[in-house]
Amino acid sequence: MHHNSIADIIRGLNAKDFSSKELTIHLLNRIEQYDSQYNSFITVTREQALAAAEAADKLRMQGNDNHLFCGVPIAHKDIFCTEGIRTSCGSKMLDNFISPYDASVVTRFKQAGAVLLGKTNMDEFAMGSSNENSYYGPVKNPWDTTRVPGGSSGGSAAAVAALLTPGATATDTGGSIRQPAALCGVTGLKPTYGRVSRFGMIAFASSLDQGGPITRSAEDAAIMLGVMAGYDPKDSTSINEPVPDYTATLTDSLQGLKIGLPNEYFSKALNPEIESALQLAIKEFETMGAKVQPIGLPHTDLAVPAYYVIAPAECSANLSRYDGVRYGYRCSEPKNLEDLYTRSRGEAFGIEVKRRILVGTYALSAGYYDAYYSKAQKIRRLIKQDFVEAFKSVDIILGPTAPSPAFSINAKNKDPIEMYLEDIYTISANLAGLPGMSIPVGIVNNMPIGMQLIGNYFQESQLLNAAHQFQLATDWHLKTTQIAA
Ligand code: GLN
Repeated sequence: MHHNSIADIIRGLNAKDFSSKELTIHLLNRIEQYDSQYNSFITVTREQALAAAEAADKLRMQGNDNHLFCGVPIAHKDIFCTEGIRTSCGSKMLDNFISPYDASVVTRFKQAGAVLLGKTNMDEFAMGSSNENSYYGPVKNPWDTTRVPGGSSGGSAAAVAALLTPGATATDTGGSIRQPAALCGVTGLKPTYGRVSRFGMIAFASSLDQGGPITRSAEDAAIMLGVMAGYDPKDSTSINEPVPDYTATLTDSLQGLKIGLPNEYFSKALNPEIESALQLAIKEFETMGAKVQPIGLPHTDLAVPAYYVIAPAECSANLSRYDGVRYGYRCSEPKNLEDLYTRSRGEAFGIEVKRRILVGTYALSAGYYDAYYSKAQKIRRLIKQDFVEAFKSVDIILGPTAPSPAFSINAKNKDPIEMYLEDIYTISANLAGLPGMSIPVGIVNNMPIGMQLIGNYFQESQLLNAAHQFQLATDWHLKTTQIAA
């Protein structure tokens, strides 16, 4: 049953081949049996899952299931607030935090009748590219447990790759949906900024953060995005645009689709094995009628430096709320208010989070603001402009997702710069607010690699259809179902 995609599950539930409860028990048992190897879950919500599955079965029996997602099991990244369930954000700071309300994304899944299996592991406050920054220990890549799954949504990607859940929510500030999807051989979609509500999604860098799905196929990503996307008055940056039926356009032909290949991505620096896999994929797209052309994204090399000013600046503001006063960790026996702040934050934040807060506070301080923050914002505008230009001549931009396949645990965590370069191909889409996807495109050294597709604003349908057509013609996305126990 665990091999079923979300689309299969919906068909199976509709045909009464199995009940939501049977499937839920099966997946909960798999999590219990296998997750000690991967550490992909922080919290497993067995009781709530069984209750939700029973409720969904009942609705289906009565013919009252008004959403196709009714009874489908999923997991949420532990960055989404869940009422009555611990929401840790991968941090000691929130280890004891039980959210009094649901994130809007969580509400939408609840209303659709989804079954929550649990909350997935992540880098602390979503800062990282390897999932080694979690207070709950590193997540292991199901393809090879000596390697990282990528981050920060490594728990979601690993759980989907290991067939512990058919889909999981995730968030992407600089690549955290696409990069772990690539490293675990699964499909990830970061929607256009503003497409999915950020209400109740714990903030890292608010102008970049965006929630999206991690699944095993583009079709499943289309189904999940349909549940997640939509206007939310509780999020001031949510965009009031109608949500198309993302599954309805999965049959469109790719005839005449214009695909751009950025010269800056296909440079000498690109890993040659990843390049050959991408070239085969490009041929596949051409066979389906797409037209390929080179494009320029001239400010690409400035994306990582600009991001590592903007994201820390925003995080230093967002994380100031964790002060030991209202909720979260509080140090024992503080001597005075100053001591309460310093020790609570000093004891509960991990090293990467502290580094970002320091960098961000410095970049925003009087005297340095113009030198760093305001310059980074100007670069951000230039990067966005590069894409606006490129999308005048192409529909989709194709490139690698990550510079290499999954690396060994402890290989990069001593050198922050090396780790930051993991997101060299993904960060630009966040700075520009564009939708981006990663889908499996090959195997290098026995590990999966990803292809990134970037679309124009609100063109998720086009991305999902291109990815789906590719997955109909190839089987890279099915490899993870072959390696899983
Ligand atoms: N790896 C990047 C960082 O550490 C991006 C993380 C993310 O997208 N949440 O900031």
